[in-house]
Amino acid sequence: MSIIGLNSKTDPNKILPMTYKWAREHYKDGVANNWTPEEISMQKDVEQWKSDKAISDVERRMILWNLGFFSTAESLTANNIVLTVYKHVTNPESRQYLLRQAYEEAVHTDTFIYCCDTLGLDPDYIYSMYETIPSIKEKDDFVVGLTKSIMDPNFEIKTTEDIQTFLHDLVGYYVIMEGIFFYAGFAMMLALKRQNKMVGIGEQFEYIMRDESIHLAFGCDLINTIKTENDGVWTDSLKDKVQKLIIKAVDQEKKYAYDACPNGLLGINPEQFCEYVEYIADRRLERIDLPKVYGTENPFPWMSQSVDLSKEKNFFETRVTEYQTAGSLEWD
Ligand code: FE
Ligand code: MN
Repeated sequence: MSIIGLNSKTDPNKILPMTYKWAREHYKDGVANNWTPEEISMQKDVEQWKSDKAISDVERRMILWNLGFFSTAESLTANNIVLTVYKHVTNPESRQYLLRQAYEEAVHTDTFIYCCDTLGLDPDYIYSMYETIPSIKEKDDFVVGLTKSIMDPNFEIKTTEDIQTFLHDLVGYYVIMEGIFFYAGFAMMLALKRQNKMVGIGEQFEYIMRDESIHLAFGCDLINTIKTENDGVWTDSLKDKVQKLIIKAVDQEKKYAYDACPNGLLGINPEQFCEYVEYIADRRLERIDLPKVYGTENPFPWMSQSVDLSKEKNFFETRVTEYQTAGSLEWD
C-alpha cells in the first residue's frame, strides 16, 4: 500500500473528475505522436550500410554504439515503469499516461528489432553490448543502481524517507536515463542524418526523441507534484544528492560520447557532444527547480530547431500549443 501524496485520490478506477490535468495532457500529446518504425523506409540506409564508401568506420562505430545502447535501454525503461512506477503512483491520470508510455517503449523496442533485421546486424552482438562495452555498461549499471530501492518488491511508501527514496529513484529513471543518457546518442544520430547518412534510422531517432521529450516532461511533473504535495521532503540534502547524481551522469554521458565517437563527425568534434550534454543537463536541473551547473550554450541549435522545439517550449517554458497529427514529422 502506498501513501504517496499523489494518491490523494485513492480510487485508481475513477479518472473523473480529474485532478492531475498535466498527466492527461501528456497522454494526449503521446497519442497525437503515434508512429511505427515500419512506416519509415530503410532502403537507403541498407544501401549505405552495405557500401564501403558511404559510411566511414568512425560513423559505423558510432551507429553500432547507439544501436547497442538503445536496443537494451528501451527494455530497461519499460521494465522500470511497469514494475515499479506504476505500482506506487496510483492516481488514474498518471496511470493512464504510464500505460501510454509503456506502449511507446514497446514501439521503441520494436524500432531496434527493425533496424537489426533490415541492416542484417548480428543480434547477439548488438544485444550484448550493454554488457561488453564498458561505456554502455556503466550507464546501465548506474541507472540500475540508482533505482534499486524501489525495485525491491518489499519497498513501500509510508514515511517521509520512503517518499524521498521514491523521488530519488524517479530522478534516476526519468531525468538521468531518459533525460540525459539518451541525448548524446540523439545528437549523434541526428547529426549524421543532417549529412544525409542513415536517414531512415535518423528519422526513427527523431520520433523516439519526440516521445522521450514527453516521457521526461511527465517524469518532471510527477517529481514536482510529489514535492509540492509533501511538505518537507525536498530537503537541501536531497537536492544536493540529486544535483551530484546529475553531475555524475553528465560525466558518464561525456565518456560515452567520446567512446562512441572519438573523432567526431564531419564538422563536429566530440567536445561539442559533451557541451550539448551539459546544456541539456542544465535544462533538466531547472525543470525540477534546481540551479543550473554548467551555463553552457547549446552547440547544436538545430537540435531544438528541427526536432524538439515544441517540446522544449513545453517542458521548459510553456505548454505545447501545436499538436502533431498522427505520423507527421513536421514541427514548423
Ligand atoms: Fe523509449
Ligand atoms: Mn522513454
